[in-house]
Amino acid sequence: MKIKFLGAASGIVTGSSYVLTSGSGKSILIDLGMFQGVSAVDKLNYEPYDYDPSELSGAVLTHAHLDHCGRLPIIIPKGFNGDIWMTPPTKDLTELSLFDTAKIAKNSGKPILFDDELVSKTISKFKTVNYHEDFEIGDFTIKMYDAGHILGSASLEIIDKTPSSEIKKIIFSGDLGNFPEPLEKVTEVLESADAVVMESTYGDRLHPKENATDKIQSEINSIEKNGGTLLIPAFSLERTQELLHIIMHLKLDGKIKGTTPIYLDAPMGEKATQIYKNYPDYLNIHIQDELKSGNPFDFTKFTPGADPQVIMAGGGMMTGGRIVGHAAHFLPIASTRLLIVGYQGEGTLGRELLEGSKSVTIDGQDIEVKGSVNDTQALSSHADQSQLISWLKNIKNTKKLFLTHGEDPSRQALAKKITQDLGIKDITLPVLSQEVNM
Ligand SMILES: [Zn+2]
Ligand SMILES: [Zn+2]
Repeated sequence: MKIKFLGAASGIVTGSSYVLTSGSGKSILIDLGMFQGVSAVDKLNYEPYDYDPSELSGAVLTHAHLDHCGRLPIIIPKGFNGDIWMTPPTKDLTELSLFDTAKIAKNSGKPILFDDELVSKTISKFKTVNYHEDFEIGDFTIKMYDAGHILGSASLEIIDKTPSSEIKKIIFSGDLGNFPEPLEKVTEVLESADAVVMESTYGDRLHPKENATDKIQSEINSIEKNGGTLLIPAFSLERTQELLHIIMHLKLDGKIKGTTPIYLDAPMGEKATQIYKNYPDYLNIHIQDELKSGNPFDFTKFTPGADPQVIMAGGGMMTGGRIVGHAAHFLPIASTRLLIVGYQGEGTLGRELLEGSKSVTIDGQDIEVKGSVNDTQALSSHADQSQLISWLKNIKNTKKLFLTHGEDPSRQALAKKITQDLGIKDITLPVLSQEVNM
């Protein structure tokens, strides 16, 4: 078997993509994500890739986050003619994300990777499969397991039917959830593999013990007492639904007022929330029960009105989406509160505000920040160092380990800890375009 690392390598977290080649020379593609971040990373989206899509037997998608699916359409005009396999919810969420990306690209002023039409052609290649059902692409037999990261997310177990060495079975972790997740089922344990490719986003860290629900409650109580608007920027997939669910429980428990309006101003977030409701079987039993008796993701459509009010809007790092307009309007008002609930990349408006900037530029306008800015990092949907190690520990006979999807300090710290705790010594931190013969 051969594996080529085409993204999420060299210490870059985004752009996940691999080409896996069997003992008899047939290849498949695993993920084709977008590179996201500072301009040097963004540039990689436009670089030629050194494999021939027309020779691929097919492709597999682990989940619908853009850094895993966001470049899929580019292989279609290059002659890709296989099926692209994924779980049913991943199919729905990926369609939503790709159309949204095409729409944003149209107005971005940057070179366009694909348009609506190409997205439609890509979608026509999608094939769905449930967890635990074997399927075949070329020389490989593949099975998906619940990664517990976002709705429909999968880890992959892949067997080469034409092995050229003792490496026959490889596992791709995909992105692993911060189990137990509030909405997802617990990340599944896989039993054995000869080689493992594992994500390492939080490879050098443990999640804080802080309670996100308490933080959200105190932010909402504060505007209920003093007036004002609470702004929450949120990613459309998982984070928006997680926040709606937390707030529903706060209302149910009488910890915030039932009358405080919770607005969701996010067309994409709204559509994603509907997809979550369409797949109760993929969510954990707590959410399944709540979906039977009511709506765990309840919200009101935004209408301008009086405070106190909570406005949740996309996007998560405030680089676009409706949160930007709300920030420009509300940040100069002293009673405004902004609650950051996720990672903020370098160079983003969210990062600038989080670091305490008192004046920011939004759409060419100077905006004075008079409101208060707070954050909670307790809502991560990625496994931390101890969760990564406990997931890996269950896999017997691992001879080779590859750490991807992490910055270098994170991968290095994790590699060291794994050698110490689990005794695995053959650990590679791949660089971009590296190919490994196994
Ligand atoms: Zn992800
Ligand atoms: Zn609940």
